[in-house]
Amino acid sequence: MDLVCLGELLIDFVATAPGPLRTAPGFVKAAGGAPANVAVAGSRLGLRTGFIGTAGKDDFGFFLKEELQKNGVDVRGLHLSSKGRTPLAFVSLKESAERDFLFYWQNTADHFMSVKEIPLSMVRSSKVFHYGSISLIHPASRRVTQAALRCALGSNNTLVSCDPNVRLNLWPSSHRARATILKTIETAHLVKINEEELKFLTRKRDLFSGIHAMSRFTDAAILVTRGVRGAAFRWSDSEGEVPAFPVAAIDSTGAGDGFVAGFLNQMIAIPGNLRKLRPCTETLTRWVRYANAVGALATTRRGAIPAFPTPGEVANLLKSDHATLPRSRQGILDTSRSKRGDPRSTDPPRTRNDK
Ligand code: ADP
Repeated sequence: MDLVCLGELLIDFVATAPGPLRTAPGFVKAAGGAPANVAVAGSRLGLRTGFIGTAGKDDFGFFLKEELQKNGVDVRGLHLSSKGRTPLAFVSLKESAERDFLFYWQNTADHFMSVKEIPLSMVRSSKVFHYGSISLIHPASRRVTQAALRCALGSNNTLVSCDPNVRLNLWPSSHRARATILKTIETAHLVKINEEELKFLTRKRDLFSGIHAMSRFTDAAILVTRGVRGAAFRWSDSEGEVPAFPVAAIDSTGAGDGFVAGFLNQMIAIPGNLRKLRPCTETLTRWVRYANAVGALATTRRGAIPAFPTPGEVANLLKSDHATLPRSRQGILDTSRSKRGDPRSTDPPRTRNDK
């Protein structure tokens, strides 16, 4: 297995018209849950992926299992439980392509998860173990997540990747959310967060002050996604920024999950123990650029799963946009965009500590 993802699996009821949930005329059912999305996005890119989690033994649970299977995800670790229902989220798409959520997540099947139901061998034998923070909220799913995490860390060659995916309205308090997330990323090897999450965790407003402040909490490589502004990274003393691809975004659902899968896809292609990797700035720039392409393409179609791109689609986008190509071996980014007067030139890419 290349990539095993553990966490929440739920139904997203997505509003059929943009605007607040209050005025939504109707909803369309879609598979949701960030770790499950990462498994699907990875599978679409050609990785052997598996999912570990619990949904209800109800029509929604059956639907979710079929969706994962149809998309090539190994579902041996998906348990359908009759102890609770499948969680639901009602999602509205605002004009800005951002989202609003309303969750139905009380006494759901995942709150009755047990370590006995989880194939820990899948975690142990996988190159990357990826998880989030939502499964750390309820004690039952937290026990399972921590057991799988211990197993991954104990395996010596499974790289641990975490995308906290902060949803504050699911936590008892923002203090608890922050403390739990900071504790869990301590042991991770790779952490992907978005810019708001970076501010929330580090209390720093400036991007690179925040990235540097992360080293107080973890030695992990840090990837920060910034929506239309692309992404920034820091891995040991290599760091930089990579601009986003100019696409016609219509729905940002799954962009971050696509980004994670894209980055892991590049990393997993390297043979050997991934924990020993020390990529230079140029390599990281290339991997993040690939991840940006996957994230960008994920915004060009509605929903997450239907929007994740194939390797061919990513290759076409990489070929078509030369403005985001690294300019030199040092990973200095092409700034020709600013010379052409692109609106994004107000936020020029920068790369530091190039090796
Ligand atoms: P998250 O969903 O975790 O908040 P982002 O919204 O930052 O993540 O998106 C992840 C990545 O997807 C970004 O770093 C960027 O590369 C790409 N992306 C997201 N939105 C857009 C957009 N509107 N145009 C181009 N690329 C985008």
